[in-house]
Amino acid sequence: MKLDIVGQQEIWNRLLSVFDRNRIGNAYLFQGPAGSGKEAMAVRFASFLNCQNPSDTPCFSCPSCSKFDSLQHPNLMLIVPFPRDKVIDKDDPPLKALATKTAEILTELMTKKGEDPYIKLELPRAKTILINSIREIKEKVYLKAVESGQKMILIFEAEKLMSQQGESANALLKVLEEPPPDTTLILCTEFPERLFDTIRSRCQAIYFPAVMESQVALHLEEGFNLSREDAMLIAHLSQGNVRMARSLADSDLGEITSTLQSMLSWVVSGTESGWRKFLAHGAVTYRSSPAELAFQFKLLSYWFRDALHAQKFNGGSRFILSMMKDDIHKFNARYASADYPRIITAVETCTDSLSRNFQLNLVLMDLLMEVRDGLNSRS
Ligand SMILES: [Zn+2]
Repeated sequence: MKLDIVGQQEIWNRLLSVFDRNRIGNAYLFQGPAGSGKEAMAVRFASFLNCQNPSDTPCFSCPSCSKFDSLQHPNLMLIVPFPRDKVIDKDDPPLKALATKTAEILTELMTKKGEDPYIKLELPRAKTILINSIREIKEKVYLKAVESGQKMILIFEAEKLMSQQGESANALLKVLEEPPPDTTLILCTEFPERLFDTIRSRCQAIYFPAVMESQVALHLEEGFNLSREDAMLIAHLSQGNVRMARSLADSDLGEITSTLQSMLSWVVSGTESGWRKFLAHGAVTYRSSPAELAFQFKLLSYWFRDALHAQKFNGGSRFILSMMKDDIHKFNARYASADYPRIITAVETCTDSLSRNFQLNLVLMDLLMEVRDGLNSRS
């Protein structure tokens, strides 16, 4: 069987050798940029350690692997940020915090993620890893194992342990201080620096670099039946983020560029109605998928990077958004003296603030004003 993780073969080999030497750790911290395969690797390693017939990969067909198909295995505990749809007590199971609809989304996403480990397991309005989720670890892992194998606790977006004054992080610290037997915790995060040092120091850190463009392109050609040219364009756009690349491969590039064009027209309009449309678009997109909004801001930052490139090297051809190069040249001709570095910083600050759950409207308003001032700069 071939492992369905793009790139990162060295990391997989390292985990295999840990297994071969029977030196599986109690706690790992998988850190690295979005779409580098942290969660995918954690999911596949968990199923590998429980597989009844493993080779260099899980077998994907034994009874244990079948349960991992939908991420419903008794030895697997998956912890992700939850919304507080309902008020719950401190001893309640975390699922009780979810509205029926949200619980359904969770089950559906888990099944999808078992099949495609690059799917994002994100629930609407989820901002916190609830302390109830951490309390549940204790109940589950100190119980006698129902099945042989290794108990696996995977925590995605682990930086969200830190909301609510870090109460969940503190609770997790107690688990890490007395690691339960035959159990491995894997924390995955893009933002390890936001975690307590005391948590980081109790985990073995494994750093996931962004995946090489050539590997992403090959993956898209083979797995999505794309032409070499399209595969290269998308690999370049996604900058080593496999999740983004896969979602781009499945979507209509024309639609994506037209969304970007609309956002741009609102952002640069400097008019009340344009700004209103931008704020409304941001709110609607954020509600359905913060990751999607982050992706759109990424494209916005590419646009201004390309515009900066055009401004500095007249006729620049090495654009990230190469399919929009004529539009970028026109844009740059119109805003010849714009302060693009300032605008790029503003877009990136905005993206960072979104990941920290700052107030959406304020964050977007700041961006609008920065862009307006940056475009009208006479530097
Ligand atoms: Zn198996």
